[in-house]
Amino acid sequence: MKTLIFVEMKEGSPVGASLELFSAAAAIGAEADAVCVEAKEGGLLEDAVTDAVAKKAADGGYALVLLAATPVGKLVTARIAARLGAASVNDAIALKEEGGKLQITRPVYGGTIQETLQVEAPVAVVSVRGGSYAAPEAVPEIAPIASDAELRARVVEVLAEAGEAVNLEDAKVIVTGGRGIGSEENLKMCAELAQLLGGAVGGTRPVIENGWLPRMQQVGQSGKIVAPDLYIACGVSGATQHLSGMVGSKYIIAINKDEEAPIFSVADVGIVGDVKKVLPLMIEEFKKKKV
Ligand SMILES: Cc1cc2nc3c(=O)[nH]c(=O)nc-3n(C[C@H](O)[C@H](O)[C@H](O)COP(=O)(O)OP(=O)(O)OC[C@H]3O[C@@H](n4cnc5c(N)ncnc54)[C@H](O)[C@@H]3O)c2cc1C
Repeated sequence: MKTLIFVEMKEGSPVGASLELFSAAAAIGAEADAVCVEAKEGGLLEDAVTDAVAKKAADGGYALVLLAATPVGKLVTARIAARLGAASVNDAIALKEEGGKLQITRPVYGGTIQETLQVEAPVAVVSVRGGSYAAPEAVPEIAPIASDAELRARVVEVLAEAGEAVNLEDAKVIVTGGRGIGSEENLKMCAELAQLLGGAVGGTRPVIENGWLPRMQQVGQSGKIVAPDLYIACGVSGATQHLSGMVGSKYIIAINKDEEAPIFSVADVGIVGDVKKVLPLMIEEFKKKKV
């Protein structure tokens, strides 16, 4: 299946979830070409990507266009598909070729179930969730392409949220605080553990709503979808809207004082106890390992 990969760039480097698309293409035995797109000075990246990728896909006769399911990727997936008259699927977690047809699995209803779709159209445009496939060992060739789309909107200001040392989607370890952590002060224990493990701090929605962490660190259905190697949930109940953002994690440790908490149903290791007592012990042990 002739495949075109759109690689999203951030500050001059490919976004991790975009590189995983090479493994997604390899998993279905597809030959893949990769492109990145530069927006015209001040132009919207979404407009530039839609225009340049749709033209490239049409001219090259590609049967599959893959994008990472980032905010930009998800926005342009439908737009590119509309230009090509193609099938459009967001948030894929697995691709398979069956009898010459592409099958796509994705979570629905906030991750409570997964559905598999079969593409009947000759062309499909699909965004794939970060963490669904491993990143390739080396970065393959990525050709820059330009867009000559008319400027319909201009970016006048970009406000970057301060305070996120590590991008959650790229972090290999995430320590998440839930309401059970109790206070902004206690959340510093999550940050300390994350720092010791070279990871990032996440929060559940109540933690974000209390203003203990910036919004871009929310994990879940209305926050970030993450799939790190290790996810440590501290005082998190495990509501479906939270689980749908982190069940793809490779190894999950949950600390909760309620042994019936739903988070334990997805945890590899469950610690029933007071997070304020357990976290200092974990921090102490990891500090010893670092010395
Ligand atoms: C449309 C919609 C979208 C949503 N999107 C999101 C989302 O993106 N992300 C998200 O997280 N939520 C989201 N929510 C909210 C979600 O439904 C839950 O309310 C939320 O995830 C609960 O957060 P929590 O686990 O921190 O808090 P709680 O559910 O209150 O759980 C706190 C947990 O801490 C435990 N605990 C308390 N004290 C201690 C202690 N000392 N030691 C150990 N454990 C302790 C308790 O036993 C409990 O299990 C969404 C809801 C809706 C309706």
